[in-house]
This record gives sequence, structure tokens and C-alpha cells, in this order.
Amino acid sequence: MRAVVVGGGIGGLCAAIGLHRVGVEPLVLERADVLGEVGAGLSLWPNALSALDAIGVGAAVRAVGVTALSRAGIRLPDGKWLRHKHSGDVPVLMVHRADLHRVLCDALPADALRAGATVTGVEDGTVTYRTGGGERTVDADLVVAADGVHSVLRQRFWPDARVRFEGRTVWRAVVGPGAPAIEDGLTMDRDLQFGLLPLSNDRVYWFLTAAAERPDVRYSDELAEVRRRVSGWHAPIADVLDATKPDAVLHHDITVLDPLPGYVHGRVALLGDAAHAQTPDLGQGACQAIEDAAVLSAAVAGGDVPVGLTEYERLRRPRTQAMARAGLQQADLMAKHFGLVTALTRHMPAALWRRQTARWTDWTAPIL
Ligand SMILES: Cc1cc2nc3c(=O)[nH]c(=O)nc-3n(C[C@H](O)[C@H](O)[C@H](O)COP(=O)(O)OP(=O)(O)OC[C@H]3O[C@@H](n4cnc5c(N)ncnc54)[C@H](O)[C@@H]3O)c2cc1C
Repeated sequence: MRAVVVGGGIGGLCAAIGLHRVGVEPLVLERADVLGEVGAGLSLWPNALSALDAIGVGAAVRAVGVTALSRAGIRLPDGKWLRHKHSGDVPVLMVHRADLHRVLCDALPADALRAGATVTGVEDGTVTYRTGGGERTVDADLVVAADGVHSVLRQRFWPDARVRFEGRTVWRAVVGPGAPAIEDGLTMDRDLQFGLLPLSNDRVYWFLTAAAERPDVRYSDELAEVRRRVSGWHAPIADVLDATKPDAVLHHDITVLDPLPGYVHGRVALLGDAAHAQTPDLGQGACQAIEDAAVLSAAVAGGDVPVGLTEYERLRRPRTQAMARAGLQQADLMAKHFGLVTALTRHMPAALWRRQTARWTDWTAPIL
């Protein structure tokens, strides 16, 4: 069986690795000429690690990450802790996206990746793509559309799908090696959240999310804009920003995909952000793409693509859409009831906090 995977992001690469593991010959078509060169930090929760283990790369990914409880420590801009990390909190593996990409590319079978290949359409299992050398086609028994939130293949089969600006914008950067020492966690104000998280090799990943009235607003000096917004916030935020190279700062608007009625059309399966792009509040978007990859690989392992894809959709749509909803609800609660959020954060017992997180992270991948 041959699978064409459209998109060499985290989801597409994991799908290709998982499919190869169950005996399917994968070909990844990626429009970029070079893969995974940019990006900042990424949190991988135990559910994603289970899926990475299932596709055979868990140990290699752990080797490039650091384990943290970063998302459990929460404070206010003056530095007062609302909640300290607790030894019973769910751990998270922090990785640099570029490191993760490298590990995934290394795990691909030889000749399974074609960079500089932009997919333009699919018809009856024939995928058309454009390269420097002109237009080409390739036949597939299975087409995995892992081409991100603005997926071309989704637009073809789900033309009514709506991608929308969620009302926030986000800056991110990686500092180091040699980054200032941090106590990792999240600092929150009504409309702003600043995250400080550890990465391997003495690096620090920071992000700032902010409410925004409209998308596409950019600044001539993005780092100065971040500094302005968190001016006077607790140490070591200013030190970390001082150590940031201006050209390391990434700035994106947050976009989400409204729930789709299905993830499968004929032999085309949507995967990752193409199927369920969500807000970054739960830190689970890429984790869900990785879960998708493991479940899809298990579902088609028997060789029957239509049956496998029905099973894939049955297993993945409820969970991913519930998670996307929860992320939106969390963002909404923060924006509209900040006082309640701070009170809940301060008083919630550790066991309940853990249960809230474990609702998403207690998940075990199928064996491939
Ligand atoms: C600020 C922020 C922080 C986040 N933090 C986390 C986190 O901590 N943990 C987490 O799990 N998730 C996080 N996420 C979510 C995560 O980044 C995404 O869910 C994940 O990267 C989606 O992966 P993907 O492979 O589905 O899509 P993408 O990463 O978008 O990859 C799609 C790929 O398809 C390629 N492509 C597109 N169109 C075509 C075409 N026509 N032909 C060929 N190739 C094409 C693109 O070039 C790209 O390489 C965060 C997101 C944001 C915005």
C-alpha cells in the first residue's frame, strides 16, 4: 500500500513514520525547500509521548528534550505565585521544534520525503503537485492531508470549513545556549500571558499571548513591542528579553478551525491542524497531530483503507474537537472572568488540578 502524506510538519512526519511501521510505503510532499528550520519551543504531554513510543521514536525525542512541570506554576505580573508547581503535577517534555523535526526526519525511510513539492489537488487517489521542474502526479491508496490550518485538500472537500482569527496574537522566541536562569511557569494578566519554559542545552523558550482586536498587525521592532507590554513585570522577564536576539522573535496571530463534520473523504484523511487547529491554551495541538498519526497507522494496518479510515474518524473526531472546545472555553474564561480564574488557580487542590490536566493527558496509543 502507498500513502501520500501532504505536508512535512510534525503531524505529516509522524504519520509517515507510523505508516511505514505498519508496512505502508509513505511519500511526504512538503512545499518548503528546507524542513523545520524555524520554530520555538513545544510542550509534549504524556499522551503525545505514548504516541511517539508507538511509532518508535519516543526515546529519540526524549533525548532532545527536558522534562518540566512548567505549565503548573502560575504567577501574577508582580511575581506573586498563585500556584506553585507540585510534585504530583503532570510532567511535560519541552523540546525545540527544530530538534523534534530533526529526530522525525532521521526516522523516515530513505527517499520518503520530497521537499519543494507543493500539492495542488487530488482526484481519485491521484495527487498533483508542483516542483521546480513543473507539475507532477503520484498515485496513492491513502492520502493524508497534514497540510496545516489552511489545508488545500480540506478546502477541496470541505469548502465550507471556516478558519477564523481567535482574537489573540502571540510572540515566541528561544534564548541561548547560555540563557539567564529562570524559574519556569506562566505569568498572567487579564489580556496577557507570558510563559517561561526550559529547553535542552541551557536554552529558554518564552512566549507572550495578547488580546488583539484584529489580525495582521505587525511592528517594526517586535521585541521592543513585547518589552513594552510586559514592562515592570517580575524578574527575570526583562533579563530574558534582553538576552533575546531581535531576529529570533516570531509573531503569529492565533487562528482556529471551526469543528468539521468529518475528517475523511474517500481515501483522503485530514490530520493535525488541517482537521482540528486549536488555540495553544492546552499546549496540545501538535500532541493531537501525533496522536492522529499513531491512530491512523493502527487503523489502516489491516490493509483495508475504507474500514481503517472510518475507524480513524470515529476515534479521533470526538476527542480532538472536545479538546479544541476546551481551549476556547479556557481562553474565554480568562478574558471575561479573570478574577474568578485567579481565585480558582489559587485555591484549587493539587489533586483536582492534576485531574483536570489528566483528562487530556491520560491517553494510551495503540500498539503498532
Ligand atoms: C503559539 C503556539 C504555540 C503552540 N504550542 C504548542 C505546544 O506547546 N504543544 C503542542 O502540542 N502544540 C502547540 N501548538 C500547536 C502546534 O504548533 C500545531 O498544532 C502543530 O504544529 C500542527 O502540526 P501539523 O503538522 O498539523 O501542521 P503544520 O505544522 O502547519 O504543518 C503543515 C505542513 O504542510 C506544509 N504544506 C502546507 N500546504 C502544503 C501544500 N499545498 N503542499 C505541500 N505541503 C504543504 C507546510 O509547509 C507545513 O510544513 C502551538 C501553536 C501555536 C500557534
